[in-house]
Amino acid sequence: GLSERLQSVMSKLRGKGKVTEADVKEAMREVRLALLEADVNFKVVKTFIDRVKERAVGQEVLKSLTPGQQVIKVVHEELTVLMGGEQVKLNTAPKSPTIIMMSGLQGAGKTTHTGKLAKLLQKQNRRSLLVAADVYRPAAIKQLQVLGEQIGAPVFTLGDKESPVKIATEGVAKARAEGFDYVFIDTAGRLHIDEEMMDELRQIKAQTEPHEILLVVDSMTGQDAVNVADHFNKELGLTGVVLTKLDGDTRGGAALSVKSVTDCPIKFVGLGEKMDAIEPFHPDRMASRILGMGDVLSLIEKAQSAVDEEKARELQKKMRTQSFTLDDFLDQIQQMKNMGPLEDMLAMLPGANKLKGVKDLNIDEKKIGRIEAVIRSMTPSEREQPEIINANRRKRIALGSGTSVQEVNRLLKQFEDMKKMMKQMAQMTKSKKKRKGFK
Ligand code: GDP
Ligand code: MG
Repeated sequence: GLSERLQSVMSKLRGKGKVTEADVKEAMREVRLALLEADVNFKVVKTFIDRVKERAVGQEVLKSLTPGQQVIKVVHEELTVLMGGEQVKLNTAPKSPTIIMMSGLQGAGKTTHTGKLAKLLQKQNRRSLLVAADVYRPAAIKQLQVLGEQIGAPVFTLGDKESPVKIATEGVAKARAEGFDYVFIDTAGRLHIDEEMMDELRQIKAQTEPHEILLVVDSMTGQDAVNVADHFNKELGLTGVVLTKLDGDTRGGAALSVKSVTDCPIKFVGLGEKMDAIEPFHPDRMASRILGMGDVLSLIEKAQSAVDEEKARELQKKMRTQSFTLDDFLDQIQQMKNMGPLEDMLAMLPGANKLKGVKDLNIDEKKIGRIEAVIRSMTPSEREQPEIINANRRKRIALGSGTSVQEVNRLLKQFEDMKKMMKQMAQMTKSKKKRKGFK
């Protein structure tokens, strides 16, 4: 993929003590090919390469102490600019509700991302009304209702006999009357762009005057996604793009071209089918991810939102004093679950994809569920002092949790290993502080 190719070009540069103009040219030739192969628009590629070349063979790079690193920095900066530079937030109405119209072709992920966005806003204590304005696709209304139920957001529908324009208008009126913060209009898509669909969308826009018109596009469709975005933008005037299915086997070109072709910012990316699989789009972080520098900031942000800070502090203290119990272990596992799949988290760490065994880790939710069951079947004193858990107790715990004695053994072993690791980490941080002259 794009990432691997760029990473190999960059790693060739990284170690170089001296970089010549020829080195830069050779690297840029490879970058250019990688971008084109990833389906990035050719005009975008040309402008990009020209800009990087101009800067990379200039004084700032060749005269620097680490020219290889400098070239990478230039590429990173220009990739960031290409994707829009700054992160762009959702528009908000001066007076609630903020009206958000979801548009896009069939199957792009409009309905799914209506649910994901509403859930994201819910975490900021914002209430959303979801309006089912797709009356054509069989079961489209039902799909939105199921999602609404799942995330606890009400759904407005008039069935599939009324016109989408009427449904949208009445939905917005209801949101206004009932004091919702956001109202999402989940519109219908077609397999291809057609006049009828555009007409309907234009009418919904005229009647509801949305503050945000989001285009939902499937990143797996590559250059097509960019063409669709360009077309919708010209016809409808978009305020933002949601790029979906970035978790799949995508070549990544769409993320790089959308902004420069349409001048419309990507506001969110979709990373899976689950309701949590959405992230605000950060151009600089995406550039880091593409260049294999790891997306450490996203990771930290994710961890921060999931882990209750108070608890984190407590945990740190326990790590230092080694009074970590199985109850704390259970707490930690639950917090990890809130952060989403562990594999997603590991993928954000620099170089994690190169770590052997990460792919085989496969800590899935089922396994976590079984660990939870085992710990819950222990008495409070067993959780405090696992050393009292003898053979009889192990049998009882296995029975109570519907697992096996082997599983109970394995868990206790893991817990012991973790405690040992914590002891080591606690010692490491202590000695580091000493070296730095802290007491
Ligand atoms: P709509 O026709 O635009 O409303 O599309 P849907 O929301 O019904 O989504 C179509 C299919 O794509 C569904 O099976 C979704 O689960 C799936 N999907 C949507 N977004 C994503 C994503 O970000 N990643 C993955 N892997 N699948 C997605
Ligand atoms: Mg839909």
